[in-house]
Amino acid sequence: MSRIWNFSAGPAALPEEVLRQAQEELLDWHGAGCSVMEMSHRGKEFGSILGQAEADLRELMGIPEQYKVLFLQGGATQQFAQIPMNLLAGRSADYIVTGSWSKKAFKEAQRIGNVRCAATTESSGFTRLPVAEEIKLDPFAAYLHVCTNETIHGVEIPAERIADTGVPLVADMSSHILSRPVNVEKFGLIYAGAQKNIGPSGLTLVVVHRDLLGMAPLNIPTVMDYAVMAENGSMLNTPPTFGIYVAGLVFQWLKRQGGLSGIATVNAEKARILYSAIDDSEGFYTNPVDPDAAGVLGLKGHKSVGGMRASIYNAVSLEAVQALVAFMNDFAKRNG
Ligand SMILES: *Cc1c(COP(=O)(O)O)cnc(C)c1O
Repeated sequence: MSRIWNFSAGPAALPEEVLRQAQEELLDWHGAGCSVMEMSHRGKEFGSILGQAEADLRELMGIPEQYKVLFLQGGATQQFAQIPMNLLAGRSADYIVTGSWSKKAFKEAQRIGNVRCAATTESSGFTRLPVAEEIKLDPFAAYLHVCTNETIHGVEIPAERIADTGVPLVADMSSHILSRPVNVEKFGLIYAGAQKNIGPSGLTLVVVHRDLLGMAPLNIPTVMDYAVMAENGSMLNTPPTFGIYVAGLVFQWLKRQGGLSGIATVNAEKARILYSAIDDSEGFYTNPVDPDAAGVLGLKGHKSVGGMRASIYNAVSLEAVQALVAFMNDFAKRNG
């Protein structure tokens, strides 16, 4: 068996320790005599897996009691619709558009109700954040939506730089959730598809302030109603049990790395060595590289922007990034 250096954008690398534990427990989870995939979601075994996953996530992110943690399905893309369905309540909402994901969220919300684009950087190719004077906020908006890390365009909004606007802040954190500490209390709702930094695809995480529950109109589908999901502990129907289990193993792995501040230190070092390799190459890496030749995976750029990208999520080790940088330097030397 040989595992490759994996820089996939999502689904993405998982910690090897987590995969090994899942493998070890696959046929017989803690003496249950079956796999997590095969047990009832209503049984006490799965109840303990879900409870532990939520407790560990609350501890890692410092999620206060007045927030509900929901383990849902449908990906971040479903949230693009579910958020306005639940939170608009006949009003309007503001969207800041800084890349393709927030643009998609905005477009989807337009199908549900009345939403405004409060700022967009599309005319500058989504390569920067909007400056304060460009942002036109509605003080009566039901919420303000942002994408704190635009995975395709690479624009990140550091949470500490978001000012309080007086309306609930809703954030798509799909690609950098759990990568460093965040002040959850700044947000009304945080959401993320699991397959970047949490676990396998098929699980979607929503952290929502309880004041935002129960505002949905009566005609929305039951399964889409956050309040119903919260009342039922994410188990109105069958949740993505195996995904929740693996996410729980990832949360425990993160705790062993020193929590979010521990992993943030490693992430900063990974980013530093990768970006300095790119900067030192003086534009060399605008050329496509055959990923098979390097034993790395996922270096082909997103179809909408081209080029190359390496996703260095939590589970991508410092060793993997060092291997990539060594390859880049060697490749540049041989071909420059
Ligand atoms: C990957 C990604 C999405 C889409 O996620 P799905 O779970 O596939 O719907 C949305 N937003 C961001 C920021 C992403 O990185």
